[in-house]
Amino acid sequence: MKRNKSFDKSTPLLYLVATPIGNLGEMSKRALDTLNEMDLIAAEDTRNTFMLLSQYGIKKELFSLREHNETTASKHIIGLIKQGKKVAYVSDAGYPGISDPGYLLVKEAIQNDIAVSTISGSSAFINALVASGLPTDHFYFYGFLSKKGNEARQALEALKDREETLIFYESPHHIKETILLMSDIFQDREAVIARELTKLNEEYIRGSLLELKDLDFSTLKGEMVILIHGLEKSNDDISDEVIIKRLQFCISKGATKKAAIEIVCDELKLHKNRVYKLAQNL
Ligand code: SAM
Repeated sequence: MKRNKSFDKSTPLLYLVATPIGNLGEMSKRALDTLNEMDLIAAEDTRNTFMLLSQYGIKKELFSLREHNETTASKHIIGLIKQGKKVAYVSDAGYPGISDPGYLLVKEAIQNDIAVSTISGSSAFINALVASGLPTDHFYFYGFLSKKGNEARQALEALKDREETLIFYESPHHIKETILLMSDIFQDREAVIARELTKLNEEYIRGSLLELKDLDFSTLKGEMVILIHGLEKSNDDISDEVIIKRLQFCISKGATKKAAIEIVCDELKLHKNRVYKLAQNL
């Protein structure tokens, strides 16, 4: 067991600083103050980070830590922190470690008894989930699917029975193939494409996957998140009698037939078709 107090002055500390996923107004004062205090900033792409820091008049030595050099760069950075240097890591956008480098650096820090602390910001999947209209109580973040069709299909098949909201990252180059594949596997499941989050052209496209597959994909520019409703288990073993009694009760309390159907479907987790048919004769 290891216990690390993040802000205990005697323990060396690695900062992970979240950066905006689009709108620069989301760079927090705490993030800027932290970056300003550093001796060195490690970055996924030093050119991008240089431009970001320039917007705020911050000039710091930058060091590259990206997917291809993550292991060696992590060891180097941890060495610097052990020598007493103040170092923060930023990825290109959002949180380091979330479909971005960062995990190996954190692991290396922990192994070397260096405390790790995150400076909050936005993450594309959290923004997308919160406004999606899909259940937020439980969710499963997958990130990017494999670019190889058969691997992506296998991964999606394995997620088919999960009840949590499923979340994926995707680029505009691949969105068409991915939505076609998803619609083949998940059929008419409710889904959402959230794109250009926090930017001027932010857009949420909500519908069933069978509807989304007919989109004009040339209109889907920019970065995007795909969310799919989890599997809804239906209580098919509930008897017709119980359902009819519940419908009658709702109607006797003043609900319209349509509202009663919705209430009963929701309460008893039933397929709409079945309840609708039973309500016909009431
Ligand atoms: N670290 C980032 C985070 O915390 O969200 C994710 C980085 S990952 C390399 C980039 C992917 O995140 C994009 O392909 C897209 O799926 C998603 N993404 C990033 N910014 C976004 C935005 N403004 N709107 C929608 N999706 C975005």
